[in-house]
Amino acid sequence: LDKIEEFLIQSDVGIEAASEIKEIISTKKVDPSKDLAAEINLILKEYIISLMKPLENSSFFKKKEKLNATLISGVNGVGKTTSIGKIGKILKTNGNKIIFSASDTFRAAAIEQLENWAKKINVEIVKSTQGSDPASVAYKAVEDAIKRNFTHVLIDTAGRLQNKKNLMEEYKKIANVTKKIDPNAPHEVLLILDATSGQNVLNQVEEFNKIIPITGLIMTKLDGTAKGGILIALAKKYKLPIIALGLGEKEDDLQIFEAEKFANSFISIN
Ligand code: GDP
Ligand code: MG
Repeated sequence: LDKIEEFLIQSDVGIEAASEIKEIISTKKVDPSKDLAAEINLILKEYIISLMKPLENSSFFKKKEKLNATLISGVNGVGKTTSIGKIGKILKTNGNKIIFSASDTFRAAAIEQLENWAKKINVEIVKSTQGSDPASVAYKAVEDAIKRNFTHVLIDTAGRLQNKKNLMEEYKKIANVTKKIDPNAPHEVLLILDATSGQNVLNQVEEFNKIIPITGLIMTKLDGTAKGGILIALAKKYKLPIIALGLGEKEDDLQIFEAEKFANSFISIN
């Protein structure tokens, strides 16, 4: 039992979930005629599904009638811009009308990167020059979207460290200007997390959530060596909806989150 717990903690699932799983296993009668590893895997799978099934939110990708301004947030390099491209592709396939807002005006390359995604999946983009006010770009994008009956504005933002106060203020301002057009905006605030960052992501959720409440999570880079145990720790601690998982750099490498699928792959790779 201790070995299992230790292994779970090493897989990033966190102390709380690990000791809970250990507890469940210790109270179950294990049939000696059955394969012990298989029995434990089954318990683990059931635990993950019961914890994470309520966090599924596949309706995020369905066809919408009204405007959804979606703010994409997260620290540098986690995959915000890439995820916007992939999300846009699924939304568009489902019949939504999408416009991107290039509100990462910090680097010219960031604007260009989002433009490339807009071209790739054939959607429109509102942009400005490097160094311009990211909030005014978002304002214009939401305004355009309403005028022209778009269903989604996906707002890219500059990667900000949650401990840099002025950058976080700027982030808050982006959300606030969209409210001037629609008091319910931003309708979604998705925090993008990198699976390879380990326990650090808990802190990122904590800090971003304080500024603008997060409505959903996307975990990227699960195609690498990261096992995704950290998503279990997050589910346990924050109970935030999990929208999708990033499984690569290409446009189709985004998997809509399903607890059972996640549980199966977590068990098979661990
Ligand atoms: P941003 O700074 O948060 O906007 O991050 P980017 O979207 O620019 O992504 C940073 C790097 O991570 C790029 O090289 C992406 O191709 C890569 N990336 C993003 N998502 C994934 C993913 O799910 N898997 C892998 N392997 N790479 C990813
Ligand atoms: Mg970016």
